[in-house]
Amino acid sequence: MLKTIQAGSLRSEHVNQMITLGGWVDRRRDHGNLIFIDLRDSSGITQIVFDQNLDSSMHQSASLLRNEWVIQVTGKVRERPDGTINTELETGQVEVIVSSLTILNESKTPPFYINKEEDSDELLRMKYRYLDLRKPKMQNIVNIRHKAVKFIRDFLTDQGFLEIETPILIKSTPEGARDYLVPSRLYPGKFYSLPQSPQQLKQLLMSAGFEKYFQIARCFRDEDPRADRQPEFTQLDLEMSFVESDDILSLIEKLYYDLVKAITPGKNIKFPFPRIPYNEVIEKYGTDKPDLRFDIEMSTVVDWAKKTDINILKTIISNKGTVKSLSAPGCGNYTRGQISELEELVKTSGGKGLMWIAISEGAKSIEDLKDDDIKSPVSKVLKLNEIQEIASILSAAPGDLILIVAGPGKIVNQSLSLIRDHLGTSLGLKDPNSFEFAFITDFPLFEWKEEEKRWDAAHHPFTMPLKEHLGIISTDPSKVIAHCYDLVCNGLECGSGSIRIHSRKLQEEVFGVLGYSKEEVASRFDQLLTAFEYGTPPHGGIATGIERLVMLLAGTDNIRDVVAFPKTQSFIDPLFDAPDYVSNEQLNELHIKVNPTET
Ligand code: ASP
Repeated sequence: MLKTIQAGSLRSEHVNQMITLGGWVDRRRDHGNLIFIDLRDSSGITQIVFDQNLDSSMHQSASLLRNEWVIQVTGKVRERPDGTINTELETGQVEVIVSSLTILNESKTPPFYINKEEDSDELLRMKYRYLDLRKPKMQNIVNIRHKAVKFIRDFLTDQGFLEIETPILIKSTPEGARDYLVPSRLYPGKFYSLPQSPQQLKQLLMSAGFEKYFQIARCFRDEDPRADRQPEFTQLDLEMSFVESDDILSLIEKLYYDLVKAITPGKNIKFPFPRIPYNEVIEKYGTDKPDLRFDIEMSTVVDWAKKTDINILKTIISNKGTVKSLSAPGCGNYTRGQISELEELVKTSGGKGLMWIAISEGAKSIEDLKDDDIKSPVSKVLKLNEIQEIASILSAAPGDLILIVAGPGKIVNQSLSLIRDHLGTSLGLKDPNSFEFAFITDFPLFEWKEEEKRWDAAHHPFTMPLKEHLGIISTDPSKVIAHCYDLVCNGLECGSGSIRIHSRKLQEEVFGVLGYSKEEVASRFDQLLTAFEYGTPPHGGIATGIERLVMLLAGTDNIRDVVAFPKTQSFIDPLFDAPDYVSNEQLNELHIKVNPTET
């Protein structure tokens, strides 16, 4: 090794030892006779000192050093003189008096600061990702990711799981996205697909008699770019035989609880994780990934609306719409501008408008409400007792702002869940030190795709319906509930899974409802259906996102922060400049002709 110790590990116990360090010049301070350098390596920073009185030619060389030059120094560790101890640095008790210096490499001036956190352009950061990753913040995130994955591997190994790799060059295995395709040189016109997940493969491993499988699996989904998405990502993919939902949930609950405690001991996390049925979570929070760090809940107020004289609400209800409401605590004094912000959220969800009732903070109580205590565009139409009734449904108090949205259920839920989320942020209710995990259970098996006028799998097509619904799969798909569950935390979906179908007949029935043709089933799923005929045991599993987990642990909401070499929001890799054109020779070898109008 070119060094004897890591810079970040120097402590008082090393005083008087001769050591050799190797690292980057993080910062240089020239005090005339003395030059101080913060020497950084992957473990941290230590201060090294060049003293002109000890060696003037070395002091002269040190004056040439610039940020990010790579150097090797040998010297003696000493206690820092009184008054110069740096309590912000773990190595701040000591410094190294350099007796020999070797410049291992020089550096151009980096395009952004590495020794200070500043908002530099993300595209530039990604073009010079190797420099961006030198920052202590990024090094820390990469460390957290390593620790989390190692924890998962150790935990599951202790529980008797085997880590098994599955192929990347495979055939389409659907998770609801488009496949990335890889053309075959050897078989003209044929393509491999990159796996959207190893779903069918892990089920085949259960058929193969491995009762507990996991993999830190790469998944590829050709979806439309979105800020919190990457076209390739990593999942903890897991499958078990002879299990029921509860077995999987208990395992994941223990894994996540232990992992959070081990890696971020200061954070609050509750055990066990609540399990909330899908219908209940939609009713209360309008979304299946609620942020449970705050307890604002919404209620359906259709019965209440029907009794009022607000005709627009009645019309919406008679057109199969719904009316829901929530109370924003302490927001009764919101300005017109603040209410407009909330109205905007309804509009972005496709909603028409937001009804609001502000209850003055000065009101004595809801029971003693007076006309003067109310401010609302519908105050003329609403009677005082009607306001009292909705306030009591929502447990609203004086000083609160009641918000009502009406329209198609999906739009109402989305509007109010965005409003709820906005309130959580603006009222400071999202404790950054708390992880509120929950399992959402009892999802519907199918969802109706209005644009395509067909049923789609709500999770994926391999999900087992509840036993009591087996008889209505084809006749009443909308009513079928699945053995399916999501893991959510702080408003993020962290994973999902299910108990799987393991019988050919049932699987074919589900494919039938989804409208897959016999040929399509034969070409895409024959391997799985055939395996079901050779004693595949009952099985189930889950996949949880590694990026989401690391984002939570590292306290970042930028998915690109937790991937060493990420793509941009528009799925470009600015470092390698990918995707890129390839040569005609390569295309010819692959039997591919690119339509020039599209390049
Ligand atoms: N394969 C599923 C997914 O990627 C997870 C699972 O059902 O295990 O979402």
